[in-house]
Amino acid sequence: MSTFDAIVVGVGGMGSAALCHLARRGARVLGLEQFAVPHERGSSHGGSRVVREAYYEHPDYVPLLRRCRAHWTELEQASGLRLVHRVGALYAAAADHPLLAGALHSARTHGIPHEVLDGSALARRFAGFAFPEGHVGLFEPGAGFVRPEAAVQAHVAAALRAGARIETGTTVRAFSDRGGMVEVVTDRATFAARAVVLCPGAWAGRLLPRLGVPLRVTRQVVAWIEPRDRDAARAPAMPVWIAHDQEGLVYGIPEADGQPPPLGWKVALHELGAEVDPDGVDRTVRPAELARLETVVRRLVPAAAGPARAAGVCLYTNSPDGHFVIDRLPGHERVHVACGFSGHGFKFTPVVGELLADLALTGTSSLPAGFLGLRRFRQ
Ligand SMILES: Cc1cc2nc3c(=O)[nH]c(=O)nc-3n(C[C@H](O)[C@H](O)[C@H](O)COP(=O)(O)OP(=O)(O)OC[C@H]3O[C@@H](n4cnc5c(N)ncnc54)[C@H](O)[C@@H]3O)c2cc1C
Repeated sequence: MSTFDAIVVGVGGMGSAALCHLARRGARVLGLEQFAVPHERGSSHGGSRVVREAYYEHPDYVPLLRRCRAHWTELEQASGLRLVHRVGALYAAAADHPLLAGALHSARTHGIPHEVLDGSALARRFAGFAFPEGHVGLFEPGAGFVRPEAAVQAHVAAALRAGARIETGTTVRAFSDRGGMVEVVTDRATFAARAVVLCPGAWAGRLLPRLGVPLRVTRQVVAWIEPRDRDAARAPAMPVWIAHDQEGLVYGIPEADGQPPPLGWKVALHELGAEVDPDGVDRTVRPAELARLETVVRRLVPAAAGPARAAGVCLYTNSPDGHFVIDRLPGHERVHVACGFSGHGFKFTPVVGELLADLALTGTSSLPAGFLGLRRFRQ
């Protein structure tokens, strides 16, 4: 049986970063992935993911996000790939809406550069949008978006250069503690390691039926819109944006040079879609789903509205409180888990990789991530 210092289960967004950090620290590490790397059946595909630091979800995430900045820059240099496009992010809602109030709170608490725009400043500066009456804006110039498939590839390439081994088309069926090692049983072979890191994304429920935290996997629809006016769908006219609309929270990501197909700017609702089994997802987007997004776009961004050019389906893995779950697996001294990223995890991948490498190699970490532990569900 092959043995390693660490085995990473799932080589998607989080697992690829964990592999990279482990391998760079000199650990003999194996990554096990049931599909290819990257692939389109999990949560880390679709060409773009928002990166932002004025975190409306909770200010405790900000120190982790700050650390990502240096990681992304370093990964871009190591890979020679442009991963992050800092086109800025616009938040638009009523001043007392949690989106606006939360972003402002995080920005002020952590000194994140931002501009507050009243209704008329918002309309003047972002003339291609038509936000509802009473909306105000917060603009975060350092935010933008990252290319997820390229980021996964960059992390994997760095891991391989540092000596990692990756087995694709290999599904982990079970793991168990055996005399100071963890034995990992797959559909092709059995491996052993001193530490195991589980990054199974939407398959966490299957791999960890006794985690004790219900994780709901939901089907999320995104569309790429053909812009009526090309400049209206690119920065600076269109930064990354998140707005409160009558349908809920809506976000958009502009077109940019070097964009992988499909072309067009991207739009989606940040609401929970239908609960699904990750192995039985209907990946066909229905005309009514597209029509809903086209209507939202015509209402909120008339200057850049046009027909949907393409659409896709992706999976959120939602924890009960919408916050990540990163901790030692109860009952397993040498196994750590990172899951439940609840539709907002990708921007954290480099720091989650660093954190998981700390935990796997030393059992502890100085990164301020204790608030993401399992203890909160027992209280
Ligand atoms: C539509 C959409 C938009 C999003 N937008 C944003 C955004 O703008 N900003 C942001 O920060 N986040 C965003 N997210 C969330 C973010 O993409 C996810 O939180 C992140 O990609 C999760 O990474 P992961 O590694 O947990 O999952 P994945 O990348 O899916 O990786 C899990 C991997 O584990 C593998 N696996 C599972 N079980 C096994 C097993 N038993 N054996 C072997 N392999 C296994 C899977 O095949 C998969 O490759 C969005 C998500 C979606 C769906």
